Amino acid sequence: MNSLRIGKGCQIAGLVLIVLGIVLVGCFLACRPSDWRRSSHLGCTNNLKQIGLAFRTWAIDNDGKFPFNVSTNAGGTMELCARGSDGFDRNAALHFQVMSNELSTPKLLVCPNDWASKPAVRFQNLQATNVSYLLHSGTNLNEGNPNAMLALCPFDGNTLYCDGSVAAAKADWKPPKRVMMEIVRRKYSAWMAVICRVFMVSGVVLLWAGSRLKWKAKGGPKPIGLIIGEFILLTVVVLLAAFMLFTIVGFAVR
Ligand SMILES: [Zn+2]
Repeated sequence: MNSLRIGKGCQIAGLVLIVLGIVLVGCFLACRPSDWRRSSHLGCTNNLKQIGLAFRTWAIDNDGKFPFNVSTNAGGTMELCARGSDGFDRNAALHFQVMSNELSTPKLLVCPNDWASKPAVRFQNLQATNVSYLLHSGTNLNEGNPNAMLALCPFDGNTLYCDGSVAAAKADWKPPKRVMMEIVRRKYSAWMAVICRVFMVSGVVLLWAGSRLKWKAKGGPKPIGLIIGEFILLTVVVLLAAFMLFTIVGFAVR
């Protein structure tokens, strides 16, 4: 009778842990607006100023046009434009890439408040993940349209205009919900991933131990739920072991 109660307790504790694990995943997806900002805006506005300067310098040699308005045949990126409905170009990295001489270093393309993006080592390897800034493209963007937005930092709201001027975000500016979620997700992902896994795994183990204890205490044939549960557990363990082996072993490539 005693082990029946222990078994029941284990089952409840296991379920609670599993639910907690799921709730934590939920918290992790929700946002924490208070601490998204890591450092001052200075690094970011400075980056944008340099980027603005690079665009203008590039334009001097190209009939006053920015790269996305100059054909690829003439060293631009016009044919590579991929504007989304929000006006921002999905191929910003390609537009920045042709301005490698003017930009001088790929580090300018990463905002200090962007936790995940790392600067490319060389412009030749520049990928979307090496760029924090959102870039507008289109024929209306040129120095004759000084107040048009050229680039935006989605992490702190600083804006670069076509005339090269940079407006710092207002103090109460908040990133769009989507960006905020992304910032929090990147910031806490490693930590949360571990906690959630620990909770869920210990929950499953407790649930299994509880069910087993209850069955032993009660006697009789093994309950069907326990048989199915054990089968699933065994499958997962075998798959995990196989996967770990696969990642550890390594293959002779040469
Ligand atoms: Zn920024």
